[in-house]
Amino acid sequence: MSFSNILGQDRTVRRLKALLKSGRIPPAMIFHGPPGVGKFLAAFEFAKAVNCSHTEHRARPAAPAAPDPDDLFAAAAPAAAPEPEAAPPRTHADKSDSCGFCLSCLQAATGAHPDIRVVDTAFQAALLDEDESANLKIDTLREVTRWAQQKAMLAPWKVFIVRDAEAMVTNAQNAILKTLEEPPPGTLVILTVSKKSALLSTILSRCCLIDFGPLPESALSTLLQAQGAEPGEAARLAALGGGSLEKAAEAASFLKRVSALRPGDPARAFKFSAGLPRDSHQAREEVKTLLDLLLARGRSAWRRAEGPAKDRLTALLRRTLELRRMADRNVSYVLLLETALLESERAGIKLEDLVRTA
Ligand SMILES: [Zn+2]
Repeated sequence: MSFSNILGQDRTVRRLKALLKSGRIPPAMIFHGPPGVGKFLAAFEFAKAVNCSHTEHRARPAAPAAPDPDDLFAAAAPAAAPEPEAAPPRTHADKSDSCGFCLSCLQAATGAHPDIRVVDTAFQAALLDEDESANLKIDTLREVTRWAQQKAMLAPWKVFIVRDAEAMVTNAQNAILKTLEEPPPGTLVILTVSKKSALLSTILSRCCLIDFGPLPESALSTLLQAQGAEPGEAARLAALGGGSLEKAAEAASFLKRVSALRPGDPARAFKFSAGLPRDSHQAREEVKTLLDLLLARGRSAWRRAEGPAKDRLTALLRRTLELRRMADRNVSYVLLLETALLESERAGIKLEDLVRTA
């Protein structure tokens, strides 16, 4: 992997490469954009590139430090590293991207780089030895702060990628704030977020903001095919995905659930809504995606409609927008979805229409 494998974010990738080329690496960055558009992948590639032996982003003379026996993060470090550049010598002249074959790049590719740490709820569960929770807690970010004070083990930069950083509770955000304000030399923190407003203004003001947009449909289709979807299926899901790989995966799950229902079954809306994920965060995201699909379908039907049908669709669009706003509050998502599906059916838009691309 290198930046060339990040599809559909050309402008953003150019900006990241320009930063690398200039050698002016901001120590605190926010990668912001919708879910499922490649923010994490880009953060990881950036981390690889700053630490690649063939680029020159040395923050300071790197004196490799002995692993700290109390360092919980260090447990992930590999026992033995593969030999770098053992076979025919290869050259790499691009200072704005990783080479993919030096020791640092090889370690990063296997997820075993001791100086590149991904901080997310799965990592937290292992760190704190507890079940995975929806939030990132203060203890986790305190550990990050502690590790940021230590020397890097191998690479010039210690990189923390806090994935979906909006999951940080307020005191966790305060715990990382000092590291963002006064980063120890050679520390790079990248927060990936889809909702900037969930971060403290003090955090936002300290970080270099890198924006990611929705993926073009062609890039989404290519990515879905790379994940094993047939070309036709990939195109269909890409059209429903609204520029997000995550939304396209949700659409695939909707298609599966809709096709399992008997056409004409009057209880379809209830049966479909009963299939929402139990996790309330996931359920809310799915309901929002479905309401977005409903709005898109409603708008295209409204453009073609005339007379009383147009009036019905106008009322439906207003109502759906209202339900879409309610989805951001603490409501019963099953009830919300049932209401939206029943009302759309009355206005002539069936459940099947929502996952139809033509
Ligand atoms: Zn490299």
